[in-house]
Amino acid sequence: MMQNDVVVVGGGISGLSLAYYCVQAGMKTTIVEKNESTGGSFASPRYSSGGREFWLELGAHTCYSSYRNLLGIVEKCGLMGSITPRAKVPFSLYSDGQVKSLVSSLDIPELLFSAPKIFSLKKNGMSVKSYYSQIVGQKNYRNVISHFFNAVPSQVTDDFPADMMFKSREKRKDVLKNYTFAEGLQSVARAITSGSGLNVFTSSEILSLRRENGLYIITASNGTEYSAKAVGLAVPSAEASRLLGTMDPVIAGHLGLLKAASVDSVGVVIRKENLSMKPVAALISPNDIFFSAVSRDTVPDDNFRGFAFHFRPGLDEKTKMTRICEVLGIGPSRIEKTFTRGNTVPTLQLGHHQWLEKTDTLLAGKKNLLLTGNYFSGMAIEDCVSRSKSEFGRIAF
Ligand SMILES: Cc1cc2nc3c(=O)[nH]c(=O)nc-3n(C[C@H](O)[C@H](O)[C@H](O)COP(=O)(O)OP(=O)(O)OC[C@H]3O[C@@H](n4cnc5c(N)ncnc54)[C@H](O)[C@@H]3O)c2cc1C
Repeated sequence: MMQNDVVVVGGGISGLSLAYYCVQAGMKTTIVEKNESTGGSFASPRYSSGGREFWLELGAHTCYSSYRNLLGIVEKCGLMGSITPRAKVPFSLYSDGQVKSLVSSLDIPELLFSAPKIFSLKKNGMSVKSYYSQIVGQKNYRNVISHFFNAVPSQVTDDFPADMMFKSREKRKDVLKNYTFAEGLQSVARAITSGSGLNVFTSSEILSLRRENGLYIITASNGTEYSAKAVGLAVPSAEASRLLGTMDPVIAGHLGLLKAASVDSVGVVIRKENLSMKPVAALISPNDIFFSAVSRDTVPDDNFRGFAFHFRPGLDEKTKMTRICEVLGIGPSRIEKTFTRGNTVPTLQLGHHQWLEKTDTLLAGKKNLLLTGNYFSGMAIEDCVSRSKSEFGRIAF
């Protein structure tokens, strides 16, 4: 059995950043991921044709200068040089078969009348709907802005706590305001896992945890067992709840209170000459079967264009491909390559702050059980890395 100081379950940015901090502190660390590669929602699959390389994002796509903890890791991993600017192309609405600009869809008098409330209204204790419908006006919120918010976690966000979406954080002045990486965000995962000292196991799903002689025993689907002084769970809340099930029913039950949404993401690659649509950052389609179609036009390529459609779950492949072709105005034969991925995003609700306080109270006496992920103080990348950093700070063995 492989002996470790720390085993991290889940190789998305939450697990990778937690593992990174542990390795830096000289701890013998292993990360175990069920997919073929690490990254989780940092998924930037590559397409190669006739010697031409392309990649697109099936999950997260944008980082900001305010992502200080992420940037700290990026810097140490030697990745600052691959930070790439995002071209200024618009986020647009797609409705009635047409691409419309955000501004042209807004009721400007209503916006001008409502906007001054931004100086007096506090987000604390308010839902996204109650806060933003006052800031932009009810009609603007209903017809335009709510759809942009829904596109972020691919679900209806009316009841999300307003202070957990679009947080203001201190920016780094020496870094681009928003950026990606030369080969997409998954480069960050590759850089962390290729650093020395981290043991990485992919295509290995963790099935169970148990305690034995003061150690955690972590069992994978291929029968491998890992032992560790501390375990970090960096998987969706329902999975963390399942893994803790019999070993820690109180925390498992508490995690089980949270909800999450599944997102079926389908990425398509098209030759540039076969697509006439003007460059966009993303298309947001109100009340459609997809929440958004995020484009690679933010990092223009000479040969290809790519879109990741984030669909509501449960649709069959034919329905999704038909809608993709309708929106892009192309026949199926124009699609060079298709990639698919299932993403899980938390459903945050008012009262989440209390849930979080209770979580940290329950964990207070358990220095060797670390919980991280995108369901703590927010789902942005920096929220995940910050959570991992503070969980790393709790380890004591
Ligand atoms: C479509 C989309 C777009 C987004 N865009 C942005 C953006 O532009 N900017 C931003 O800041 N944030 C964005 N986010 C949010 C952010 O990317 C995510 O919240 C963050 O990447 C989640 O990281 P994570 O490690 O917590 O979870 P995940 O990335 O979901 O990773 C969890 C990992 O655990 C693995 N796993 C699960 N169960 C097991 C098991 N039993 N054994 C082993 N492994 C297991 C999974 O396979 C997965 O790899 C976006 C999210 C999505 C879905």
